[in-house]
Amino acid sequence: MLRTDTLIIGGGLAGLAAARALEGRRSYLVAERENRPGGLASTVSKGGFLFDYSGHLLHLRWPRSTKLILDALGPNRLRLKRDARVYAHGRWTPFPFQANLSGMPDKVKAECVSGFLKAWNAGGGRGDGTEPFSRWTRRVFGEGISSHFMLPYNAKLWRYPLGRLTTEWCAPFVPMPTPEEVVEGAYGRRTEGMGYNTSFYYPKRGGIGALANALARGASGLRLGLEVERVDLKKGVAQVRHFGPVHFKRLINTSPLNDFVAMAADAPAAVRRAAASLRHNSVYVLNLGARGVRRDLHWAYFPGPEFPFYRAGIASNFSAALAPRGCASFYVEFATAGEALDLASAEKAAVKGLVACGLLDRASQVTERLWLRIPCAYVVYNRERAAALPVIDAWLKARRARSIGRYGAWKYSFMEESVKEGLEAADALPRS
Ligand SMILES: Cc1cc2nc3c(=O)[nH]c(=O)nc-3n(C[C@H](O)[C@H](O)[C@H](O)COP(=O)(O)OP(=O)(O)OC[C@H]3O[C@@H](n4cnc5c(N)ncnc54)[C@H](O)[C@@H]3O)c2cc1C
Repeated sequence: MLRTDTLIIGGGLAGLAAARALEGRRSYLVAERENRPGGLASTVSKGGFLFDYSGHLLHLRWPRSTKLILDALGPNRLRLKRDARVYAHGRWTPFPFQANLSGMPDKVKAECVSGFLKAWNAGGGRGDGTEPFSRWTRRVFGEGISSHFMLPYNAKLWRYPLGRLTTEWCAPFVPMPTPEEVVEGAYGRRTEGMGYNTSFYYPKRGGIGALANALARGASGLRLGLEVERVDLKKGVAQVRHFGPVHFKRLINTSPLNDFVAMAADAPAAVRRAAASLRHNSVYVLNLGARGVRRDLHWAYFPGPEFPFYRAGIASNFSAALAPRGCASFYVEFATAGEALDLASAEKAAVKGLVACGLLDRASQVTERLWLRIPCAYVVYNRERAAALPVIDAWLKARRARSIGRYGAWKYSFMEESVKEGLEAADALPRS
C-alpha cells in the first residue's frame, strides 16, 4: 500500500505545475493515466510530422507562471506575431471580425457597421455574464456582426443552443471594439492587434508537448500509466487501476469535474446531481500533412455553413520543425455535442473546404493524416453550470480537496491558467 502526502490526479499542465511547486517540499504522487505527460498539451508523432491536439499557443500574462513556462522551455522557444483571419462570404479578412470588416463585401460591411452603431447607441455594454449569448451578441454587436459571424461561428463551436449559453466566458476571448475601431476596421486601417492572443510563444522544436516534457523532468513524483478509478475523500484513499490503494492526506484533482465526482465514493447525492448537470462539447481534430503549400497564416475561423469545421490552422507556420522539409501541416477542428463524427466524410469535407478557401492548392498532395479526439473539449457555460459549481465547491472545501485546471475547475481557460492554478493549489496546501 502506498502512502503520499498529496495525490494529484492528472499530469497535464495543471498537475505538472502543482508537482513542480511541491518538489522537495512534501511527498506527492501525480497519477497520470496516459503514457505521456501533458494532457491536452501533448504532441503526437506520425510519418515525420508532429501533431498537437489542434493549435496550442502560449499566451502569457502572469509573472510566476510565465517564468515557470519560459524557464522550462529555455532557448527552445519562438515568439510569433499572430496572423489569424476569418473566411466568410468567399473572402478573407483579419481576425477579429468585428474590428476588421475591410475584407467583407460592401453590403455585409454596411450591415455590420450600421448594426454595431445602432447597438452602441442603444447602450451596448458587456453585461453581467448571465444574459443568453444570442441576445447578448445582438445587443452588443448588433444584427450584422451577429448574423455574419458571432451566431454561426459560436453555434458551430459550442454545439449548444445559443439562447441557453451564458456569456461569463466572453470577457477574455471576445474583443469589444469601439465605434471608431469598427469604422476604421471596415473602411480604413486594419485593427489586427486586438484580442488576448496578438502574439504568442511556441516551442521551436517538439510541438507543444515539449513544454510538458520539460516540466515533467522536474517532477519526480510523476507516474505515467496510473489511472485513478475511485476516490474516497473522507477516508483519504484512492484506488488506482492495476496498482491498488493509495493513501493521501490532500488531494488535487485536474481530471474533468463530472468524472471526478462520479468516481468519488463519498460524494453526497446533491453533489452527484450537480455534477451530472454539467455539459461539454467534443472536438475532433483532423491533422493533415501536405506537400506544395505556400500560405503563411497561422489559423482561420470559418463561420459559414458550407464549412463543417469551425477553425483550421497551419501548424508548420508556428514552427517549421513540425513538418518534414518541403511539407506543411494543417489542423482542422470539428465540434459535436458529444455524438461520434463520421470521420471519412468529415475528412472529405475538410480537404474540399481547405481547397475552396485556398489554404490548400488543388495540386497539393495530402501525404499524412491523423484524427485526434478530445471527448471533453469546451465546457458549456449554461445556467446549470452556474448553479452546480458552488454545490460541488462547498463539498470539496469541506473535504479539503481542490479541483483545478480547465476541466477540474470546469471553465474555458488556457494553458497558462492551468499552470497558474497548479502553482496556487500547491501553495494553498496546509503545512503538514
Ligand atoms: C481545441 C482546443 C484548443 C486549445 N487551444 C489552446 C491554445 O491555443 N492556447 C492555450 O493556452 N490553451 C488552449 N487550449 C486549452 C488547453 O488545452 C488547456 O487549458 C490545458 O492544456 C489544460 O490543462 P489541464 O492540466 O488543466 O487539463 P488536461 O490537459 O486535460 O490534463 C488532465 C490530465 O488528467 C489525466 N486524467 C484524467 N482522468 C484521470 C484519471 N482518472 N486518472 C489519472 N489521470 C487522469 C488526463 O489524461 C490528462 O493528462 C485549447 C483547448 C482545446 C480543447
